[in-house]
Amino acid sequence: MKTDTVKKWTLQFPISLALEGEDCFKHMADMGIQRSLFCNGIYSPYRLVLPRHPQKAIYSLEEGRYYHKPIPAKYSGLPLSPTPSQDFDGRDLLAESVAGAKKAGISPGIWLTLFANGSIAKQHPEWAVMNLYDSRDRLFLCFNNPEVREYSIRLGEEVVGNYDVDEVMLDKIPQTCLELNAFAGRIDPVMRTLGSFCFCPHCVAAAKKEGIDLLALKAQALKLSNAALKIPPYVTMSQAAELTGDAEIPLLLLDNPWILQVLKFRIDSIRSFLGQLKARLPRKEVPITLCFVPIAKIGHDSSSPRAWLAAQSYECYRDSAAEMIHSVVHWDADSVEYNTMRAMNAVEGSSLKVVTHVKAYGTTRPADIAGLSAAVKRAGADGIAYFCYDLMTNEIMDAIAKAGR
Ligand SMILES: [Zn+2]
Repeated sequence: MKTDTVKKWTLQFPISLALEGEDCFKHMADMGIQRSLFCNGIYSPYRLVLPRHPQKAIYSLEEGRYYHKPIPAKYSGLPLSPTPSQDFDGRDLLAESVAGAKKAGISPGIWLTLFANGSIAKQHPEWAVMNLYDSRDRLFLCFNNPEVREYSIRLGEEVVGNYDVDEVMLDKIPQTCLELNAFAGRIDPVMRTLGSFCFCPHCVAAAKKEGIDLLALKAQALKLSNAALKIPPYVTMSQAAELTGDAEIPLLLLDNPWILQVLKFRIDSIRSFLGQLKARLPRKEVPITLCFVPIAKIGHDSSSPRAWLAAQSYECYRDSAAEMIHSVVHWDADSVEYNTMRAMNAVEGSSLKVVTHVKAYGTTRPADIAGLSAAVKRAGADGIAYFCYDLMTNEIMDAIAKAGR
């Protein structure tokens, strides 16, 4: 199915497919879902509580493992190949997803996480982001490391070449940013901003090609970050409600325009990666799409990501190899409408499409689904995605089936 004609998406973790088999796609079809994005690996061991599955109600996702059958030879010359799931008796859940979805008349897509992998970052720290203090990250991988890029491209080649998916949605691309709070509490926004950048030798080399002396900028970053370090933590903590980065950082950028240069360099690095990936995909007709946090609201995951810090400018990908942005707005209907309208404004006049993801779990009540769906429609998005199939109650599923009719 062509992506242009898809209006209603859902996303699925492997656990519900493993438990329900083909039945899950019948349920999706009953909800009017046209495309299912199958999660082929998640970066952190999120713990899920599955409302419809009393036989397996608590399940932790496997960190950094994959649900297709990786072919190790495909990764020759690299220090590692994808580690398959240990949980499902060797089943190829991606193959099951593609076959099951097609049988039910649903278009299969894949949700592929590239530059965040807790398992790889811990076992191969040389692939991880290295901050201004030369500390390696335990989650994010450096998107300028040639081996990380090659691994990611071969992963894309493998899943698009061997599985009949209609879309590749890239997640954590890049969203390399420090979390809002460290163990002791709020990270000073200046430190959070500068601490989110990678200063590894691969980034230094890539920046040099763009005429940027990243090592010189690292020295300036250290100076600013260490000045922030002198502020007593309890003083910073007392201001935590205001110190989110959104009020303080514009002045920092004005006073230190080189920081903006680094933010732009990160986006350019991703744009060049997308071009490389697109060129090597075995089926050129398969669209690359991007999973982004909202333009204005914080991202919902544990790092509370912000679009501006996560190198996720919507405008900057207008003329990239990506065809669509999945804007993940797991907030109320007004946030959904506001952030979707801002996203539509950012891509106006380009061919880039926007799909808004709404929260169909947790605090969302069945009665909220109609309002969330209407907000996305009013804002003019090209489609809506209900996140996620695994966490929906039967009542939520009924509400989704009725939404938009
Ligand atoms: Zn780097």
